Amino acid sequence: MAENTKRTVVVTGGSRGIGRAICLAFADADTHVYFNYSSAATAAAETEKLVADASGKATGMCVNVADQKSVEDFMDKIVEETGRIDVLVNNAGITKDGLLVRMSEQDWDDVMDINLKGSFFCTKAAARVMMKQRSGNIVNITSVVGASGNAGQANYSSSKAGMIGFTKSVAKELAARGITVNAVAPGYIETDMTAEMSEKATAAMMGRIPLCRAGKPEDIAGVVRFLTSDMASYITGQVIHVNGGMYI
Ligand code: NAP
Repeated sequence: MAENTKRTVVVTGGSRGIGRAICLAFADADTHVYFNYSSAATAAAETEKLVADASGKATGMCVNVADQKSVEDFMDKIVEETGRIDVLVNNAGITKDGLLVRMSEQDWDDVMDINLKGSFFCTKAAARVMMKQRSGNIVNITSVVGASGNAGQANYSSSKAGMIGFTKSVAKELAARGITVNAVAPGYIETDMTAEMSEKATAAMMGRIPLCRAGKPEDIAGVVRFLTSDMASYITGQVIHVNGGMYI
């Protein structure tokens, strides 16, 4: 039996980093946020608690976005509970960096499967629900390197460039059903993902940011919130860069 929720929001990879900030940006009494993660159950419980502390409601589930059946079951459960999906944010992503000549097929496939194919699986499952509703907002979290390229990230930047083409194509397919599809391309944002970078690489990255600071997960969450609001109802198929001027 569907609960009495006015809006259902689905965020992939909501246990940490940018995904957690996006879940928090949707913390309000009328919204049920569902998010998934791949392994970090403790971090997921912390996201649920933070959203509850901010007067919202969030439910985390361990679902691998690269597994189509698991994704379909996840979306089915959400629809069973709330009867709808209003917002999908394809945020889950990984890096497996290395120079092209040393990059293994496995590292290429893992990054493509989670970042790009995972977005395809989630979007396909959620779009079916949104098309019946004749409304919805989809936001794909791509990356500055999907536009600029980056040495050592052939797999990652290809997956993120793929998400940009995916965003534009799906925006054209779903527009007539009242569904917007946009992408947000973060620059250098302080999360576990960037904490893995060496001091030297971090310093070089900071030197390329005109606004002279790293971004925060909230800088991305705010733009996602905007793109899923009535204020952005005439925006679709766009890539919004949020990078402190790092790529202009
Ligand atoms: P993060 O801190 O590493 O968090 C990644 C999130 O994705 C975690 O919640 C993780 O769950 C989840 N995840 C990973 N693999 C998954 C899978 N197979 N199925 C479901 N969930 C999975 O990363 P982040 O920095 O917040 O990045 C979020 C997104 O922004 C990514 O798409 C990333 O490419 C993009 N981005 C980040 C930056 C940056 O500077 N940080 C810049 C540009 C773009 P577990 O904890 O369970 O693993």
